[in-house]
Amino acid sequence: MKINWKEIETKWRQKWDENKDFETNPNDKPKKFITVAYPYPNSPQHIGHGRTYTLADVHARFYRMRGFNVLFPMGFHYTGTPILGMAKRVEANDKELISNLKNLYGVPEDIIKEFVEPVKIANYFHQEIKDGMIEMGYSIDWRREFTTIDPAYSKFIEWQINTLREKNLIIQGSHPVGWCPKDQNPVSQHDTLGDVEPDFTEYILIKFKFEDYIIPTATLRPETIFGVVNLWINPEIIYKKITVDDQKWIVSKECAYKLEFLDKKITYDGEIKGSELIGKTVTVPHRNESILMLPASFVESETGTGVVMSVPAHAPFDYQALIDFKKSKMESELFTKVNAITPISIIETEGYGENPAKEVLEKFGIIDQNDPKLEEATKEVYGKEFYGGKLKLNTEQFSGIKVSYAKEAIKNWLIKNKHADILLELTNTPVRCRCGAECVVKILNNQWFLNYGDSDWKELATKCFDSMNILPQEIRSEFNYVIGWLRERACARQHGLGTKIPWDKDWIVESLSDSVIYMAYYIISKFVNNKTIISDNLSKEFFDYIFLDKGDSEKVSAITKISIDIINEIKKEFQYFYPVDSRHSGRDLVPNHLTFFVLNHVAIFPQSNWPREIVVNGSVLMNGSKMSKSMGNIIPLRKAISDYGADPIRLAIIISAELLQDADFNMESVSGIQNKIEALFVECSLLKAGIPEKFEAEDKWIKSKTQNMILQVTLAVEKMRLREALHDILFSFESDLSWYMKRANAKNRINISGVLHDIHSTRITMLSPFAPHIAEEMWKKLGHLGMVSLSKWPEFSQGEVDATAIQSEEYLKSTIEDISKILKVTKIIPQKITIYTANSFKFKVYHSILEKVMTGQTNMGTIMKELISIPNTEEVKKIPDFVQKTIKDILSEPTEIRKMKLESKKFDEKSFLINELIEIGKKDFGVEIQVFSESDSDIYDPKEKARHARPFKPAILIE
Ligand SMILES: [Zn+2]
Repeated sequence: MKINWKEIETKWRQKWDENKDFETNPNDKPKKFITVAYPYPNSPQHIGHGRTYTLADVHARFYRMRGFNVLFPMGFHYTGTPILGMAKRVEANDKELISNLKNLYGVPEDIIKEFVEPVKIANYFHQEIKDGMIEMGYSIDWRREFTTIDPAYSKFIEWQINTLREKNLIIQGSHPVGWCPKDQNPVSQHDTLGDVEPDFTEYILIKFKFEDYIIPTATLRPETIFGVVNLWINPEIIYKKITVDDQKWIVSKECAYKLEFLDKKITYDGEIKGSELIGKTVTVPHRNESILMLPASFVESETGTGVVMSVPAHAPFDYQALIDFKKSKMESELFTKVNAITPISIIETEGYGENPAKEVLEKFGIIDQNDPKLEEATKEVYGKEFYGGKLKLNTEQFSGIKVSYAKEAIKNWLIKNKHADILLELTNTPVRCRCGAECVVKILNNQWFLNYGDSDWKELATKCFDSMNILPQEIRSEFNYVIGWLRERACARQHGLGTKIPWDKDWIVESLSDSVIYMAYYIISKFVNNKTIISDNLSKEFFDYIFLDKGDSEKVSAITKISIDIINEIKKEFQYFYPVDSRHSGRDLVPNHLTFFVLNHVAIFPQSNWPREIVVNGSVLMNGSKMSKSMGNIIPLRKAISDYGADPIRLAIIISAELLQDADFNMESVSGIQNKIEALFVECSLLKAGIPEKFEAEDKWIKSKTQNMILQVTLAVEKMRLREALHDILFSFESDLSWYMKRANAKNRINISGVLHDIHSTRITMLSPFAPHIAEEMWKKLGHLGMVSLSKWPEFSQGEVDATAIQSEEYLKSTIEDISKILKVTKIIPQKITIYTANSFKFKVYHSILEKVMTGQTNMGTIMKELISIPNTEEVKKIPDFVQKTIKDILSEPTEIRKMKLESKKFDEKSFLINELIEIGKKDFGVEIQVFSESDSDIYDPKEKARHARPFKPAILIE
């Protein structure tokens, strides 16, 4: 049967909407406040966006069914430069962009014309994204919707920014930022192509003197100044002669360009070929010793200054380049000098001798300086020396200090003596701005910064992270890492949509700074949208009173002209819903948004309102590859919904991966899901409620299995292991059901509809958060009144788990399997099957052994001795073989099964097999089956098989 997804989904969405099922106000139930990073409306949503929102929606629906009053709201993030850049490109008639808008996103042409106005772009995609979210069935309280350029939101952001400034967390100063030289604007992840965060590092420039010039080398290891023996120059590079703040320098062209942005005055004076420097000498700062400049091909003009300091005792590249040079043919004068160069060892590290670089080269079998293994060799030496090395006596006042501590001290000492300077460089080049220009690091003066480098602030944020639930757990260390490297961050831009800095109106609060505590604004927006309050009312006193419980209501009412009752109603609502119980986002927001979200909360709110949980998900791949415009494999979400239905897409996204993995989406899996759901739908349509007169063994078993499924699924959803949960509901449970059907059919039962109805009701209830529309339809088909999305999540009940039923059913299954195996191996066509169960003495012994194993005793000798010492198991000495095999049987099973066997002591194997095996066995094997206990007096045992029977391991005779 084919399901008409569109019709069913529209029907149920309308019902939710009419009943206002997801509009949430405070009540006397416990609350859950679940939020997800709001979208940036500069393109339609695609399947990838759908993943994060779907996961959050499943979470929200799950908690709603578990009795929580769940608030799940949504806003739209208009702030920032990308929309502005897009408007400019439309204005310039950018062919590629316009073609994408038309063909990929399906925007009508007359609307594209309006896109020269940035707000029109945002408004258009806002509506598009919102429609998609509604069609996906997200259980959002739309009364709280807002955009970040709403006047009331701007009031809120002004309050946020002012509050941070009062706490000295917004500072004005000179700090490095990622920078677009074309737009003259700082850039962060949201402004770059491919959404990469510009990441940079600090090099120490060590100044070597050459005639009137300084030749600086860039290093991350300033301590190696004590071991330098020559410089490396690439003879192919044409170096620039420049003046840097009144000093003459020689550096690569790329380095000179980088220095222009680092708050230095640069003028260009001329050029010099690298080859002209070879063989000449420079003076080592501090040591006043002359060293040679030598040629090396590994030196790159893009990295550092294009000149490298050679420390052959500790840098594998340097040692190898020296060997290469000595091997090359050259004029004899320089050769003699180079031959005289010996490495200077300055670091002592356990496991290394005098020359660690040489040792590692030999270990890796490096051939020459172009060997790719050199990178790895370098990493190994640097790592070991940094964490485990100590400086030697030849490092003067630094001798004896650990390398990891000495680095900063040596850097400061060099700078103080004017032997060094700083060079900042991007480490993840190339980073491109959305305008196409390559980004650089710039020292920005008189700019407004959030002081994320502040150690007290970091400490507070760490405290919050430590107390938070982070899903999945493995992502926690990434947050610690981000907090570690975080430093001052520009929080203002000169262009783009957004809120002006209240005290400096030339600047606009940038998009990663006005999106950190807006979850609190969802409380306010409800009252703004229903016109209870207007933006003019929203003063500092208002926000202080609502969010921070500061001031008194009478004064606030006088200032804001809002009645005391309303002010207190808003405050009560905030106090009810805050803090955020769960924050969902994609993994790409870990190093920025999610970390800033925590930092800003701990700065502004008291600890009781700090966020409680972060949930991070991976991205979505399309048939195994990344989705991108250039690949043409972006599937707009709304198109997918109209082609396949929302529920199949929700399910296909969830089933394809656990939280942090990248989900691989493909259309075959959507069709597979559709078929699966259609089959389930048909089953539900056929079932009638009712209780059979008597529960058979298989009924008790499948009911126990259902309880087990409830337990597993609930635990999995709580940990947001949704793939596992959904797999349990849809697939794993299916094999249990088919066994149940086989058993029922063997007995020709006609009274199982009620049992199946009960099981499927439970299944559909648990399916509801995942596939909410079709679950409502199935719920109705099963004859239930009301909405399944508002019904109770099934509760695991230990009382309904029948250990004996589970045990006996597994026993039956394994007995049938054993018979099949024997038939397969012996290839006998059976005439007759006889089964022998163990006698009661063996059962007694079995339980004694099981008890001993459960307390940790597994030693055969000890167990044997103990059994013999007790009179009623003394006889066991006659069957030591049985004891040994039984211990093995027990140990081969998981602990939970052992526990169940311990509970099901009264299980009577023989009568169970007589009742349950004979019928099903006749159907499976087509012959009569006889069952005996080995102690039966009338036993038929021509081959003396019965004595091999063990509890749960009957002996089998096939003739
Ligand atoms: Zn740019």
